[in-house]
Amino acid sequence: MQNSQIVTRFAPSPTGYLHIGGLRTALYNYLYARANGGKFLLRIEDTDLKRNSEEATQAIKEAFAWCGLDHDGEVTYQSRRFDVYKEYVQKLLAEGKAYKCYMSKDELDALRAEQEARKERPKYDNRYREFTGTPPAGVEPVIRIKAPLSGEIVIDDGIKGEVKFRVEDILDDFIIARSDGTPTYNFTVVIDDALMGVTDVIRGDDHLSNTPKQIVLYDALGFKAPKFYHVAMINGEDGSKLSKRHGATDVMEYKRMGYLPEALLNFLVRLGWSHGNDEIFCMDDMLKYFDPHDINKSSSTYNASKLEWLNAHYIKTLPYDRLAKEMLEFEIDFKAMPKGEVLLNSLRERSKTLVEMSQSARTIINAPSAYDEKAYAKFITPESKENLAKFAEILGENLDAKGYEEMTGKFLEANGLKLKDLAQALRVALTGNSVSPGIFEVLEVLGADETKKRIRNILKENK
Ligand code: GLU
Repeated sequence: MQNSQIVTRFAPSPTGYLHIGGLRTALYNYLYARANGGKFLLRIEDTDLKRNSEEATQAIKEAFAWCGLDHDGEVTYQSRRFDVYKEYVQKLLAEGKAYKCYMSKDELDALRAEQEARKERPKYDNRYREFTGTPPAGVEPVIRIKAPLSGEIVIDDGIKGEVKFRVEDILDDFIIARSDGTPTYNFTVVIDDALMGVTDVIRGDDHLSNTPKQIVLYDALGFKAPKFYHVAMINGEDGSKLSKRHGATDVMEYKRMGYLPEALLNFLVRLGWSHGNDEIFCMDDMLKYFDPHDINKSSSTYNASKLEWLNAHYIKTLPYDRLAKEMLEFEIDFKAMPKGEVLLNSLRERSKTLVEMSQSARTIINAPSAYDEKAYAKFITPESKENLAKFAEILGENLDAKGYEEMTGKFLEANGLKLKDLAQALRVALTGNSVSPGIFEVLEVLGADETKKRIRNILKENK
């Protein structure tokens, strides 16, 4: 049914990169729309021409593309809609719902100072609300809305429940257009949400104090207000507001650090929302279970190890093709290697990030140019060198990991050795280090010739 369709939006101000808190807001809006056959719109709130940049808009789009959050229709840019805002300011003026205020900056400062001296909340005193006289010369007026003077504004918030604001505590006849004619933030949000047909607004609860003002504007304009959901903030592990001190906040930084978008979205959906005790949510699960009414009332805590754990989960479980493609970003082309799939499948078992996986992959792809000193000192002994030399002799045809395992078993038995007499030394010889994925997978990936070459190299070392 057309008129019951859910329409949500994400409305960032492009002042820098996309913050992970913003991505969480976007995700919640995306899920609610997509799960209900609705629309998810993107609006760039770039009216502050001094603070907003084209690069920041690009950064938002890039982050959306990386995470696979697609929006419907064209992007709306507020900076291109000044005419629309002007038209509605004029309409409110004509209807007597807004008025011109000629108060100068000095007068406003004086009023503030008086109010502060009386320990009152600074607020406009409505002196031009009913003004009909001759305007003072040389003052370009601002436009103020005629806000209610008393009573309550009640929001039926989808997360917080009923939130009541006493008009006296929070409102005054606030400005909707500045003296240079530019519209203010709350005004543009309301006009756009209404004209874009937005039915549900999920946003950070740092916007809660704007909501009563926006409701005043919906009423004045004769628009139906959307349903609001104010999401509590994300805190760092020390309880303070999430900032760079606690970890990366730029979405694209997570990409560079080797996180998968699946892991980041899963992490973010759970920061502030739950479904039973479940932790793993692929996109299909999120679409199935997410409901904004189930978002937690209290703030959530950023937990870096949880994100790492989720990333490790997706590294283990995503299809080979998908991971191999992601790894191109880290300059490892598994598909171009004869044993790329074996290598990736053994590395993925123990990698928490793609960066870690690329580092481990390099230790296997490239013959060691140096050996880890501690590992060398511990595992490369006259006896282990002898074992390595003997082992190299029996290497002939290329086998798979299982074949190497059987072959090694027989070799150890014939020589009265244990796996520990060979495995660590072999790891050091092949990868330069004593930590590597399953040694038999490494043998399969390298094949007999390369393995022999690397063993010969370490035997030549005279340390
Ligand atoms: N542009 C606002 C921001 O980036 C969001 C406005 C809203 O969601 O209503 O915080």
